[in-house]
Amino acid sequence: MRRKKIFVLSIFIIMLSISIMSFTNNSKNETNLKFDYTNATANIKKVLIDDGTYTDRIPILTFHRLVPNKIKNRYYKDNEWVGSIDTFEEMMEYLYDNGYKTISTEEFYDWYTGKVEYDKKTVLICFDDGFYEDYYLAYPILKKYDFKATSFVVGSRIEETTHKYMSDKKSYKKNTTYYIGQDVIDEVREEYPNYEFQSHSYNYHYYTKDGKHRIHSMSYEELVDDVDSMAKYKFSAHAYPYGQYNEIIQKVLKEKGYLVAFRFGPSDYAKRDNDQYAIYRIKINGDATLKTLKKWLNY
Ligand SMILES: [Zn+2]
Repeated sequence: MRRKKIFVLSIFIIMLSISIMSFTNNSKNETNLKFDYTNATANIKKVLIDDGTYTDRIPILTFHRLVPNKIKNRYYKDNEWVGSIDTFEEMMEYLYDNGYKTISTEEFYDWYTGKVEYDKKTVLICFDDGFYEDYYLAYPILKKYDFKATSFVVGSRIEETTHKYMSDKKSYKKNTTYYIGQDVIDEVREEYPNYEFQSHSYNYHYYTKDGKHRIHSMSYEELVDDVDSMAKYKFSAHAYPYGQYNEIIQKVLKEKGYLVAFRFGPSDYAKRDNDQYAIYRIKINGDATLKTLKKWLNY
């Protein structure tokens, strides 16, 4: 009888200890949760206090092909799509010396959606078409200044291996164009993620025989196919070829989870009231100088 009493008492004590332990654990977890929550709120507030220096617009500077100055003057003088890498370097030096901050497309999205604020010295640098000069000539300059930039590549032009850079005038005289290959995309993603790759369509970057932009004769299914062909790259931003877009491609990009899509014309600053799938970019023309850049930065 006594044994039974002791047994029941022991069971009772064990049960009591377990419930005390679990109560202590619970309250410990609650305290932790509370602490994290307070911290997160404090951070958000810190980011959102407006001291008058925050920007309401961001210049998205978009370059295309960049070649050495000598080549530009000799073969592409009046070509608005081909700029000088020497001028580009001057521009980057100016941004660096004047304390500008470069952001990625995802950081742009965070600003666009109001999650963060940036000051007026903030730019997004883009390259369209994935020309191999963007890697051989522009990439080392960006790395030198520790800058971020986005290269919008055309999926169907990505070969396995990037063509070796040809600096001689003869090769430029033949007007050959080469594009960044899979090898460079893999290497850069590993080596310097500040230089990111995003989508410039898989294969609708051309004019049809009747002289119209290909996108305008594409069906919903064709555009889904095109966007799906880029899925393996896990892109989250899209730049419309020639800045041309319509409601169908906007719908497809939204459905596929793209964060943003970029247009051109009329060139203007990106603002929070832009359509999420038609964000304004500034086209930096082939004849642009440092003065052109300063004009866009002074607002
Ligand atoms: Zn393009």
